[in-house]
Amino acid sequence: MKIIKGIAVSDGIGTGKVRKIIRTFAEQNEKNSIDKTTELKKFENAVEKFCQKTAERAKKIRKFSVDDAKILEIHIMIAKDKFFTEKADRLIDGGLSAVLAVEQILSESIETLTSANDNYTKQRIADITDIKNELIGAISGTEKLDLHSVPKNTVLVLSDITPSMTAGINTENTVGIIAEKGSFVSHSAIILRSMGIPAVFGVKDALSLTEDSRVIVDGTNGKIISQPNNDTIKNYNVRQKNILNNNTVPKYNRDYKVLCNISNKEDSVKSLTSDGVGLFRTEFLFMGRALPPTEDEQFEIYKQTALLLNGKPLNIRTADIGGDKSVNYLKQEENPFLGCRAVRYSLKNRDFFITQIRAILRASIFGNIKILLPFITTVEEVRDCKLLIDKAKSELKAEGVAFDRQIKVGIMIETPSAGLIADLLADEADFFSIGSNDLAAYITACDRNNSEVSNLYSVFQPSVLRLIRYIIECGLKKGIPVELCGESAADPMMIPLLISFGLKNFSVHPLATEKTKKQISQWTKTDADKIAGTVMDMKTEEEIYNYLKSVLLTI
Ligand code: PEP
Ligand code: MG
Repeated sequence: MKIIKGIAVSDGIGTGKVRKIIRTFAEQNEKNSIDKTTELKKFENAVEKFCQKTAERAKKIRKFSVDDAKILEIHIMIAKDKFFTEKADRLIDGGLSAVLAVEQILSESIETLTSANDNYTKQRIADITDIKNELIGAISGTEKLDLHSVPKNTVLVLSDITPSMTAGINTENTVGIIAEKGSFVSHSAIILRSMGIPAVFGVKDALSLTEDSRVIVDGTNGKIISQPNNDTIKNYNVRQKNILNNNTVPKYNRDYKVLCNISNKEDSVKSLTSDGVGLFRTEFLFMGRALPPTEDEQFEIYKQTALLLNGKPLNIRTADIGGDKSVNYLKQEENPFLGCRAVRYSLKNRDFFITQIRAILRASIFGNIKILLPFITTVEEVRDCKLLIDKAKSELKAEGVAFDRQIKVGIMIETPSAGLIADLLADEADFFSIGSNDLAAYITACDRNNSEVSNLYSVFQPSVLRLIRYIIECGLKKGIPVELCGESAADPMMIPLLISFGLKNFSVHPLATEKTKKQISQWTKTDADKIAGTVMDMKTEEEIYNYLKSVLLTI
C-alpha cells in the first residue's frame, strides 16, 4: 500500500482500477531516439493506417450523410498528397522525428489559412487540425484517446486533462480521476466537481501507477491510496456511506441566494435545488466541433434551460473562448490567457457575437434570462458590446421576433482592471458577477492551471481580498446586484468574509449547493464581520489561511 499526496479538486471517494490514458504526443516523441529509417517507416505506416481507418469511417458514415463521407475522403487525399508526403520525407531525412515533421508541415498550412475569415476556410483549418492530430496519434501509438469505453469502477489516470476531454468521460463507469498536472480552479476541475467525480490533481508520477491495480481516490483530502490493504478499503467504504447519508437540506437565510454554475443543458437538471443559474459557461457549447453552433442550435439549448428553470434566474455568459478553452476555429496565440479571448474575440468577430446574442434574446421570452459579458477590462468594451446587443435587438424587432426588451446585461469582474474601475463600470452594467478564479490569477500573476505556483495563487492573498471587497462595495453603493461565481463562493473559509463584505448572491457548482447553503446558515452578519475585521488587518496569505482554518475548526 502506498499513499501519494496531491491537490484535492473534486470531493468524494472513488475506489476502482487504474486505467492510464497517454495523450501527450510531444512528450512521447521526446522520449524516442531519432533514427531516420525508423521515423520514415513510422510516417509511412501512420499515413497508411490513417487512410485505412478514415476510409472505413467514410463507408459507415455514407449511409447517413454523403457530404460528411466526402469530407473524410478529402482527408485521405490530403494525407496522400505528394507535396505533403515528399516534404515529410525530406524533413525526416534532415533529422526531424516523424511527429515533428507532421506537426511542422500541417501547422504551417494552418498558419497560412488562419488569415482568412470565411467559413469554408475555417472548415479546412478544422480538417487539417483533425488530420494532424490523427496522424500524430497514429505515429506515436497514442491515438486511442478513448475515455468513454472503460469498464465499471475505472479510475482514469492522466498526465493532464483538458476541459474538452471531460466531455468524453463515461460518468457511469468512472469513479475517480488522477492527473499529474492541473489545479483546483482549472476548468477541468470545475467540470469534474459538477459531474460529482472525485478527483486529485498535481499527483507527481501518477502515470507510474500500475495499469489495472486497485486505487482509492480521496478527492476530499487530496490523497491517492495505491494498492490499499483490506482495512483501508473497509474504512473508506464506511466514510463513503457516511457522506451519502449526510446530505440533508439545511434551513438557510433567504436573504442569501445560492445559484449554480453550469456548462450545458444537462447540468441545469442538477441545479434545480438552487435559486437559479448564476453562470452558464456557454463556451463549452462551442468546443469539440469544427464550426460554432448555429443560432437555432443555441436558441434551443437556452430555451430548454430557461424552461427547465421555470422562472428562476438564468445568467447566460457569452462565449468565453480562449485561454485553456480553445476551439478549432480560433487562431492559436502565443499567450492565449492574455490574448484575444472572451469579449475581445466577440468584438473582433461581430457576426459570431451577434449570432449568440440573437439566440439568447429569442430564448429570453421563455424564462428569466440575463446576459453576462466575460473578461471585461474597460468601459468601452461594455459600451461596444451593448451597441451590438442593440443591433441584434433592432434586427429581431424588424423581423417581428419576440424577445425580452428589458433584458439585463451584467458583466464579469475578473480582471484587475475591471476591479479597479468597478465604480465606473457599475454605471454601465445592470449587475456584477465576480470571477474570483481569474481575478486571483491576474492579480497574483499566476497561471490558475499550474500546480507549481498554487502556493501563490490564492483568493486569501490580501491583494485579492481587498479588491473583492472593493468590487462588492462599488456594486452596493451604486445599487446593482453583485454575485460571485468563482470557485471561492463555495469555500467555507471564504464564506464569512463574503458575507461581511455584503455579498448576497453565491454561484457555485451544482453539487455544492446544499453544502454552501449550510455554510451560509452558520453565520450571522455580526460574527462574520468580526472574522473579516481580523482578517483584513493581517498581512500575509499564510496568516489569513491559518486563522480562518482555526476559526472553522471551532464552529
Ligand atoms: C472566474 O474566472 O472566476 C469564472 C467564474 O469564470 P471561469 O472560471 O469560467 O473563467
Ligand atoms: Mg473567468
